Amino acid sequence: MATTPYPQSYYAASANPVPPRPALQGEVETDVCIIGAGYTGLSSALFLLENGFKVSIVEAAKVGFGASGRNGGQIVNSYSRDIDVIERTVGPKEAQLLGKMAFEGGRIIRERVAKYNIQCDLKDGGVFAALTSKQMGHLESQKRLWERFGHTQLELMDQKRIREVVACDSYVGGMLDMSGGHIHPLNLALGEAAAVESLGGIIYEQTPAVRIERGANPVVHTPQGKVRAKFIIVAGNAYLGNLVPELAAKSMPCGTQVITTEPLGEELARTLLPQDYCVEDCNYLLDYYRLTGDKRLIFGGGVVYGARDPANIEAIIRPKMLKAFPQLKDVKIDFAWTGNFLLTLSRLPQVGRIGDNIYYSQGCSGHGVTYTHLAGKVLAEALRGQAERFDAFAGLPHYPFPGGQMLRVPFSALGAWYYSLRDRLGF
Ligand SMILES: Cc1cc2nc3c(=O)[nH]c(=O)nc-3n(C[C@H](O)[C@H](O)[C@H](O)COP(=O)(O)OP(=O)(O)OC[C@H]3O[C@@H](n4cnc5c(N)ncnc54)[C@H](O)[C@@H]3O)c2cc1C
Repeated sequence: MATTPYPQSYYAASANPVPPRPALQGEVETDVCIIGAGYTGLSSALFLLENGFKVSIVEAAKVGFGASGRNGGQIVNSYSRDIDVIERTVGPKEAQLLGKMAFEGGRIIRERVAKYNIQCDLKDGGVFAALTSKQMGHLESQKRLWERFGHTQLELMDQKRIREVVACDSYVGGMLDMSGGHIHPLNLALGEAAAVESLGGIIYEQTPAVRIERGANPVVHTPQGKVRAKFIIVAGNAYLGNLVPELAAKSMPCGTQVITTEPLGEELARTLLPQDYCVEDCNYLLDYYRLTGDKRLIFGGGVVYGARDPANIEAIIRPKMLKAFPQLKDVKIDFAWTGNFLLTLSRLPQVGRIGDNIYYSQGCSGHGVTYTHLAGKVLAEALRGQAERFDAFAGLPHYPFPGGQMLRVPFSALGAWYYSLRDRLGF
């Protein structure tokens, strides 16, 4: 059978060694069958296994093949739309619950890394960089908002202070979040997969779920086998396709691209980011970057609505990198790749249950390293019968994209063009 390898990313090239994981052959039975071995699936599996459930994961390609093994590696708190938007959408009571959870995902990652001794270059400290005074004003209110929900490891930075942590002259100021930070994302996923297996969970790679037989005893069908389970968790996110049609209608896969330089050497790396914090700017279509463990610069940005893979990624992202760091003009790019995240119209996660036993979480709209870890915990709680936090997420409203499947890509691109024009003009 043909196998699907990792994309040629820096992460795949520097991945920790892993055991071979065969495809599913034949029929197996379990408590929970999880579709997808990204952070959502792995985090759900870990919480379930720690609570005595039997778990099998079917993964179409390899652990961390999707966004979880390709992302910028930035541990960013809260959600893609912030708690104030949630408050306006669902009211103060639910917002209180969701707001309290907004900083939990980063803590879960750190607990996992410590408990299972995961080698993933974890570093503390993330910077939100403001390009305009309007963006700085937004960061000031974001700090007040987050503090209202108990998150206090935050420092506002003026122009002089941010220049001490990022060697880029474009910023008027920023905010440092010391509970943010960064990781080697694929090695985090691989470490979590090893933890799943250490607790008796089974991961079948190269095993796409091709059909879900719904009903009181649901079955996940794969090309050469099937998994009978009491519960199913759908965690395929932007790579799920049309396996669950009711989910596809209210979300849209989008691509974003990342490049990695050759190793810069300690000295040059330290001049760019002296404290080794990660950085994302505050634009609607944002740029994000950080150093790797071996002192390369990883730089990502841009969005391709509808997730078509661009032909020349370096040509798109390198100019953005050189705008931030012109001093890198002679530095070679060793890796360039693309990955898909799942956008919802509200940019809030899409969480819920189909029937009594098929659960899902997806669509964290490009801001999912922390959220997906939280989602695993919340899904596991729901399967154990404690659904208060799950219900809070499930209550977030979701709508189909304007224009439907045919026109959602040009309509969304038009919307993004408008917002990035506003960023460029500073209003
Ligand atoms: C390039 C890029 C950069 C990003 N940077 C950041 C960042 O710096 N910080 C941040 O917070 N977020 C970032 N994100 C978003 C973040 O990575 C995602 O939100 C998160 O990893 C999603 O995890 P997931 O487990 O839900 O989905 P995925 O990691 O995409 O995993 C889904 C898995 O399901 C599998 N699958 C799909 N369908 C099936 C099927 N039918 N059968 C079996 N398996 C299936 C796929 O093969 C895949 O492995 C970025 C995303 C991208 C693409």
